[in-house]
Formats: sequence, structure tokens, C-alpha cells
Amino acid sequence: MSRGILFVVSAPAGCGKDSILEKALSKDINLTYSVSATTRTMRAGETEGISYYFKSREEFEKMIKDGELLEHTEYCGNYYGTPKQTVEEILADGKNVVLKIEIEGAGNVKKMLPEAVLIFILPPSMEELSRRLHKRGTEDEETIQKRLKQAETEISCAHSYDYVIVNGDLDAAVNDFVSIIKAEGFRAERNAELISGLNK
Ligand code: 5GP
Repeated sequence: MSRGILFVVSAPAGCGKDSILEKALSKDINLTYSVSATTRTMRAGETEGISYYFKSREEFEKMIKDGELLEHTEYCGNYYGTPKQTVEEILADGKNVVLKIEIEGAGNVKKMLPEAVLIFILPPSMEELSRRLHKRGTEDEETIQKRLKQAETEISCAHSYDYVIVNGDLDAAVNDFVSIIKAEGFRAERNAELISGLNK
């Protein structure tokens, strides 16, 4: 059995990455979501072990020290990290894994595992992103302006990703995402066949 593929998705806040992932994960594309660990506080509607593994700073720092994380970063004053063993086990089981992480973590994963496939989700325009953030109504104007500045910085790194999806229409963006997962799966299968052919 060949190993699964590691996919990494990044997007600025308000670009719809949660919605795209939620819809894509409900499809039959052999994709498992990797739950991250974080020190940030749980938000309304979140569940331990599904949204995140919520940790104290001490617990998180012990995970770093014990080498339990594939990558980790500090973002807006909180630690975030990807548990190594779970990802390893799922990939070894031939299943694809998707990480939903920010740009620094994505870059670190690509350095460690160049075969990882990086996908960036863009808003159709900065005007539309601003409109969506205002429409959410969850943050004050100052926070929204900070998020828009942060989005500009993140978007300037999109060129280093393997794929870029523009989320103008959610269903179209989900289709694009699913097509990438399937195409990369076909490519991995073909490479595995070529290699096994060469070894005969
Ligand atoms: P939030 O607090 O809004 O859930 O996440 C903040 C940012 O941290 C998002 O960009 C999210 O994708 C990123 N993030 C979540 N988990 C991880 C992780 O394990 N590693 C890294 N590097 N970033 C993460």
C-alpha cells in the first residue's frame, strides 16, 4: 500500500477555508483532517479533540520539548502545532491528511517534507474580503483593519504554494479543492506504479 499524501491549506481569516474544508471532508476523497494543538482559549461552538486539542502553555511546551510536534508556531500570542504521531500513522495507513495551518507552519512543513502539497485560498478581492469581515460582525473596526493588513502579508506568500484557489463561489472552490486532491492521488498512484515497474 502506498503512503497517503500530506496536504496543507492556508488562507487569511474570512477567505472561507473552514467552509471549503468542511464540505470537502464530507466527500469520498480519502482525506482526514489533522486536529492541531493550541494554547488559545476555546471559542463558542468549538469541541475539544475536534476543533483543537486545547493545552496550557506548560503542556504545549512539554510537547515541543518531547518532539511530539511536526511543526509549531506562535500566532497572535498563542501556540499552535501539528501532532506528529497521528499524521504519521494516518499517512502510513495510506490515507491522505490535510493540515489547516498558517503560512509559517506551511513553509516549515514544505522544508521538512517537500512532497507535501500546499494549497492557498484567496478571496476574490481585498474589497470582498473586507465586506465579508464586516458582514461577520464578530470583530470591531480596529481588529478588522488588523486582519486586512495581516491578510495582505499572507497573500504575498501565496506564490510559494503549489496551488491557489480563489473562493468567489463556495461550491466552485470546493470543486477546485476536490479536483486537486484527486489529481494528486492519481499522480501518486502513477508514480508508485512506475517505481514498482522499474523494480521488477
Ligand atoms: P484560529 O485561532 O483562528 O483557529 O487559528 C489561527 C491561525 O492558526 C489560522 O491561520 C490557523 O490555520 C492556524 N493554525 C491552526 N492550527 C495550526 C497548527 O497546528 N500549526 C500552525 N502553524 N498554524 C495553525
